Order: sequence, then structure tokens, then C-alpha cells
Amino acid sequence: MDAIIIGKVIDNYRITEVLGKGGMGVVYKAKDTTLDRDVALKMMDARLASDENFLKRFQSEAKALAKLQNPNIVSIFALRESEFGFCIVMEYVEGNTLADKISEMGALPLSRTLAIFKQLLIALDHAHKAGIIHRDIKPSNVMLTKDDVVKVTDFGLAKIQQTSAVTMTMGTGGTLFYMSPEQVRGLANVDQRGDIYSLGMTLYETLTGKTPFTESDTDFSIRQAIVEGKIPPPDRLRPDLPKDLVKVVMKAIDKDPAKRFQTAAEMWTALEKVQIPLPVVDKGTTIDRGGSRSFDPQTKSRRMVYLAIAGVTAVVLFFALRLWMSSPSTTLSISSEPNGSKVFFNGDSVGMTPLTNITVRPGNLSLRLDREGYYTKDTALVLTKGENVSIGVPLRKIQTAPPETAENFPPASSTKSGKAKGSQPKEQSKQTGMATLSLRAMPTGFVTVDGTMRSGNTNQVTTVEVASGERTILFEHPVYGSKILQLTLTPGETKTITCYFESYVSIQSLPVWGTIMIDGKNTDVSTPKDRYPLGVGKHRVTVTRAGYETVEGDKEITIMPAFKENVYQLVFNLRKK
Ligand code: ATP
Ligand code: MG
Repeated sequence: MDAIIIGKVIDNYRITEVLGKGGMGVVYKAKDTTLDRDVALKMMDARLASDENFLKRFQSEAKALAKLQNPNIVSIFALRESEFGFCIVMEYVEGNTLADKISEMGALPLSRTLAIFKQLLIALDHAHKAGIIHRDIKPSNVMLTKDDVVKVTDFGLAKIQQTSAVTMTMGTGGTLFYMSPEQVRGLANVDQRGDIYSLGMTLYETLTGKTPFTESDTDFSIRQAIVEGKIPPPDRLRPDLPKDLVKVVMKAIDKDPAKRFQTAAEMWTALEKVQIPLPVVDKGTTIDRGGSRSFDPQTKSRRMVYLAIAGVTAVVLFFALRLWMSSPSTTLSISSEPNGSKVFFNGDSVGMTPLTNITVRPGNLSLRLDREGYYTKDTALVLTKGENVSIGVPLRKIQTAPPETAENFPPASSTKSGKAKGSQPKEQSKQTGMATLSLRAMPTGFVTVDGTMRSGNTNQVTTVEVASGERTILFEHPVYGSKILQLTLTPGETKTITCYFESYVSIQSLPVWGTIMIDGKNTDVSTPKDRYPLGVGKHRVTVTRAGYETVEGDKEITIMPAFKENVYQLVFNLRKK
């Protein structure tokens, strides 16, 4: 049937090629002749399409799915019935699935994996907040564009499939590996934590190149392992994995849903904290040469040994250096959505997105994308020699005016600035199940609670009454990026939270009256300076004074968004030239 259907037209869709085959049927590429764009068309297996229960469910469910709009989720455009069967018309993604990537290259590099999974979690968070659970998260349902922008496919389709009386391949073979214990046991009320589990298992495979099951495992033994077996931690297969990351994976795949991350936002925050190991920097330890200088024969022979060791080391280093220089270089391709964003490497402008195959020095790289009207994105990458990294960065538009609709910004429940006017007394809040949040971004920023913007670009305190329970607060600075906080509020509780996108540095020099230089620029401020504000990012600080030089040279300081006001101390020793 695959060949026969190529070239056929279903309403305004002309089928052009087969993209792949899955448990529900075949996926085709097609041209939408009305809008002149490519689409993907998922044709249901004829056995499913003849099941009345399935069709009813399919139509009602697909309507809900079509409402899911997110840059990291494949959009559903339409449903069609044709002589070939029922089909879903969806966004066409030019790229590969994560499953293809893993089978092509095995375990993916750490920085790339984190960039992919953070986008995945943003997609899940969006869907879960809209009340939609994926139920079949696995590498073959994660598509990656050539720039590594993530597009999750098949949202919610597993639910429709399960209602069918026809037994399809769902829950066997590939899909089974990622199924949560509660899904395997066939429990009815599988919730968003089931998706967290499947995502954790997908992360396991992306980091190690393998699932924790072996080829020879039968469906039965896999089911048994999922429900009661012990899954070995992923660093058993890849020992260099950061411990924090191993913990994130193991928490996501805990057998008990209550012990997993409870939300995608919570897991995102945990991933955000994972530190990718940096290349070890030799600090150039000073050796005390003031010891005994006596020339006894024992010292002499020891010296010979030292000389020999130094000689051998030099030869080894020479060959290591030659090998290093002849090995393939690291290239980086960067795109953004939308493109046309300025790109900075360690603060230096290198061009505009899309950039392809730029040769870069391996090691630590701080990347900044800056486009007018969008939030600036700062990312730290660790590049390994010979690696070809390709990243796609979705940019977020700056909303100039806070949403005004009553639905988005209920005036009755929020008051700007200072104490909540007319807010309910504590006892009353307790009864109504409400809690009070006093939120502030410093020096300025937007504040969003559970997806609803509560404060525009300001440093004023915004006090809002919110329902108790789990709340997600997003602080966003127009330039410095964002920070998410997840917290559980009890009825009647009051919480004050300030997110700082700036920290202070106290810059001293001995002797005093040095000029402070930051990021190569003269600040016209002299030491001693107690509180010099520095925004989020990496900065180089030094002090200059005529006739003097600093003993320490430049000092590097990295400011991250934080929920407390940090003051860093920097002291420079000056010595006469
Ligand atoms: P399952 O049926 O369990 O989801 P699966 O994900 O492997 O299994 P399908 O969803 O049918 O199978 O997808 C088959 C293949 O079609 C995918 O592996 C992918 O290569 C391709 N594909 C699916 N959706 C799209 C899309 N929106 N754009 C481009 N290619 C797609
Ligand atoms: Mg699929």
C-alpha cells in the first residue's frame, strides 16, 4: 500500500514519500497544496480505523491535542478520512528522531544532551499544564531538527490507541523499555509522573547509548524488571557522568511516582543545576626553591633522576601535543529560532545566526545570543576536541505589555506594589485555601506565576494571592535570562521572594586608588569600592594603577541569577613595576 498511495491526493494533501512506520501505521510526507507547505500525514492502520470506539475517541481527543501549541511540540493541523483510512495531518519536521541519533552515534555528548532534555521538559511542562499527558515518551517520538531544536511528536496518541479493542504493537518491543511501572501494571490513573519516568529512561539511553535491558530479555522479563527489578545507575555504563546528573536520572525513574520529580519544571530545575565537568586547569603551583643547597652525592644522583624524568615528560608532552594538533578540530553550528541573532563567544562577537561549522577551541565556551525584541540567551558549553556540535536555540519574545485580559491577569486577586491592599486576613486565607506571594525581580524583570504574567518589567514588589499547593514562579530579566522556582504553599502562608539578576562585588586593592577595569573597560571607579553591581554572566575584573602591576592579573567572576543578594570579595595586590 505504501507505494500505491504515493502521488495520491487526500483533499488538499498530495502524498509525496514515506517517512517511517510505527505501531499505529505509516507516516507520509505530503504537500498541503492550499498553503504550499510540507506536512506529515500519519495514516492509521486499517484495523484501528475500522474500530468504532477508536474513531470516536480519536476525534474527540485529537481536538484537544490540536489546541497544544508550543514550539517544541509537533502541531496537529487536521484530521482526515479518506479511501486509504483515517489520518492525522501534522507539522512536518525536517530532521531525525532522537532514536536515529542514538543508533547513529551511541551516547550523545553531555552539553548536547542537556540542551535537548531542557527543551523536552519545556514541552512536557506546557502539555501537563494544559492537562495533556503524552503517555509514550521515547526516543522515536522526539524529533530533532538539524539545529537540535526539539519537536515532540505523538502527544496523547497512546491514550487513544489504548482504548481500541484491536491489539496493536503498543507496549511491546521498543515502546516497552520506556513504560513506567504504573503503566506496565495497567493502572488506570497514570499521571504526568508517568511521562517523567519515560523521559528519565530516554535520558538514560541518550547518556549511555543503551537501555538497561538486554537484547535477549523477553517482554515478560522486561515488564518484571520495570516493576520490581533494580535498574543499574547510568554511570555504571558511562563512568564519567556527573554524579548530579546520575541522581536526576535515578530520581526520574524511581519506581514510586511519589519519589520522582513531581513536575517537568522541577526536573528542569534539577537539570539546570547539573555542572558539566570543566577541563582541569593547572593553577601553576609555585615550588619552594629555598631548601638545602648542599651538594652531597645523594642529592646529585637524585637530580639526575629528576632530570631524566623531566626529559621523558618533555618527550611525551611533545608527542601528545603533536597528536592533539593533528586530531580533528571542534566545529560548532548555531542557529536560533528565529535566526538573525548576534552571537558572542566568551564576550566576542562572532556573527549572526545561522552559523555553520565554525572551528572553535575545545574547552569551556560561554555563548550569548542577542536579538532585539527577544530575551538574551546565555549558555555555557563544554566542547571536546573533534566534536561537531550543532545547537538550536529557541528565543523567547519579550512581551512589551503584560497580558491584560481578565482571564490572564485577574485584577481582584493581585495588587501591585507594597502590601496587598484588601488582601484577606490570614485566617480567611486559610479557609479559602489561598496563599500570598510577594515577588520581586532585581534590578528589574517580569514575574510569571503558573504561566500567568503577574508583573511587567519592574523592580517593584508585586503581591498576589494564589491558590495554595504547588506553584511555579518564573522570573525573567530582559537581558540576563530567567530563573524558575517551584514551591509548595500551604493555605494562609505568606512568602516573599526576590530574584537577583545582579550581584555586588567589593573590589579592593593594596595599595588603594587603582582604577577598576571590568570586561576590558575602564569603569572610572577607583578602589576601594564596596558594592559594584555586576549583571548575570562571566566578567573579567582587574585593577590598574600607573607604575604598578597586579600580582594576580585578571580575575574571572561568574554571576548567576540567585534568590539571595550575593556580594563577592575581590582583592588585588599591586606591586611596583
Ligand atoms: P509509535 O507508533 O509507537 O509512535 P514510532 O514513533 O517509531 O512508533 P511513528 O510515530 O509512526 O513511529 O513514526 C514513524 C517515523 O516517521 C518516525 O520515526 C519519524 O522518522 C517519522 N515521523 C513521524 N512524525 C513525523 C513528523 N511530524 N515529521 C517528520 N517525520 C515524522
Ligand atoms: Mg511516534
